[in-house]
Parts: sequence; structure tokens; C-alpha cells
Amino acid sequence: MPKRSDRSKKTKFRKKTSGKAKRVFVRGKPGRQHCALCKRVLHGVPHGKNAAQVRKMSKTKRRPTGLFAGVLCSKCKVIVVAEAAKVEAGVKKPVEVELRLQKYVEQVKVK
Ligand SMILES: [Zn+2]
Repeated sequence: MPKRSDRSKKTKFRKKTSGKAKRVFVRGKPGRQHCALCKRVLHGVPHGKNAAQVRKMSKTKRRPTGLFAGVLCSKCKVIVVAEAAKVEAGVKKPVEVELRLQKYVEQVKVK
């Protein structure tokens, strides 16, 4: 009987050199990353590779550089920056910003 923690893991059978088949645990590959606001697929972010392979990559290969890169898509980023500029200019109060955008608007520093 396998360990209780092993029962839910994905397994495959691999043939050993002795001819016997051995059960091995396979880890899932990371899926596509999505925009935090609109759930659109993000570009420039690795997927379909082993998690270990992704970890070995350089930081710049793991995500694009720029504001909210790897978190928000470019369309949502434009909306957030525009809202942040309105707050900075005093046109809008921080409370008046859409609730789902508030977290990101706070992070933008307009200067
Ligand atoms: Zn988006």
C-alpha cells in the first residue's frame, strides 16, 4: 500500500534496467500565467517547462521587465497607470478608484 500522501500524486511506470517496472512520481509543469485583473494570458512568461528548469533561468527570462510585468497585461497596466495619474493630479480621490484597481494604483508612483 502506498503512503497516504503518495496516493494523490501523479505517477508513471518506468522500466528499470533489471526489466522490472517501477512506479515513479511525476511533477506537473507550470501552466500559462494570467493577468491578475482580466485573466488574459501573459506573454514572455515561461510555461510548459519543468519547475526546476524555470528556477534555473535568469530573472529576465522568467518575466519581462517593466511596470507590473508578469502580473498585469499591457491593457490593464494602462488603465491602472491612468487611474494613478488621476489620483496624483487630484482629479480623483483614492477611495473613488474602482476597488479591484486600488491595490495596483497604490503601488504606482507617479512623479
Ligand atoms: Zn489584463
